Amino acid sequence: MRYWKVWKQSILHLFFPSLCALCKQALLIQEQVLCIACEQKLPYTHYHALYNNETSIRLAGRFPFQQATSLFYFTQGSAVQELMHILKYKNYPEIGTYFGSLLGKQLRNEANFQSIEAIVAVPLHFKKEQQRGYNQSNLIAAACAEAMGLPFYSKALVRKRFTQTQTLKTRSERVDNMEAAFFVNNTNLFVNKHLLIIDDVLTTGATIEACAIKLLQIPGTQISIATIGVVIS
Ligand SMILES: [Zn+2]
Repeated sequence: MRYWKVWKQSILHLFFPSLCALCKQALLIQEQVLCIACEQKLPYTHYHALYNNETSIRLAGRFPFQQATSLFYFTQGSAVQELMHILKYKNYPEIGTYFGSLLGKQLRNEANFQSIEAIVAVPLHFKKEQQRGYNQSNLIAAACAEAMGLPFYSKALVRKRFTQTQTLKTRSERVDNMEAAFFVNNTNLFVNKHLLIIDDVLTTGATIEACAIKLLQIPGTQISIATIGVVIS
């Protein structure tokens, strides 16, 4: 059965080779989403072992967390921005899986991330998820969890409603408003657990903050954060 599957894949690949999502060259059979040349140009942050990285500095003082990291720098016009755009708007879920797998393979070897026990993703409102067909952060989190050998609870953290307009509000009102948009379905799952919250791109961090505050209300939880990109202006 397995040989048949490999053989079928090889034949399919011969006639319909997948193309690199960035340079559009035909991918080799062992390549996925990106060719090796494009993959080597990805701007890794190498943040995971650093306590004081840009991601953790941006979230510091807003809620207690153990570790915070991002896989790539996310700058205007960069390859990571282009890939994230394709993932979100061009129906290309494989990019989410690809990103999540890269993240998980790095974090599973990091001493700072060894105590993580479960993974959650920042949820999209279900209407947005219906429009897009998937939540990109769920795809990233699922692949990351698989690479780390950890459980991923895709339906545990839920977004209730579209967040109200954020204008003319103080920061603390904005945080309250965001926090009210999330709820945890089954808090028993997370009691006394160290959770890794996964999101696609870190900008202000308001959404992650709201999710973290919600999860920290569960007794004994600890939080770490990982995103694929961190916006650098
Ligand atoms: Zn390429």
